[in-house]
Amino acid sequence: MTPDKILFGYAVILLLAISIVALYSERRRRWFGSRPSDDHVFRCVKCAYVYTDDPDVDRSRCQQCGTSNEAIKF
Ligand SMILES: [Zn+2]
Repeated sequence: MTPDKILFGYAVILLLAISIVALYSERRRRWFGSRPSDDHVFRCVKCAYVYTDDPDVDRSRCQQCGTSNEAIKF
């Protein structure tokens, strides 16, 4: 074994490791993506319209009548 070959081996192993990590995280991202989204579900108290909004908002305006509603907790 020459130092060159050892270095080459290290590089290959490193690349493989990076590829595996990348594949794994990509897969995990896809699993999360295929999950029903984390968006909050809102149901308008006035017109009963059901809609979703970003997960970081607690209250959202109804897209139909503009009434402010609280998120439904499951
Ligand atoms: Zn409404």
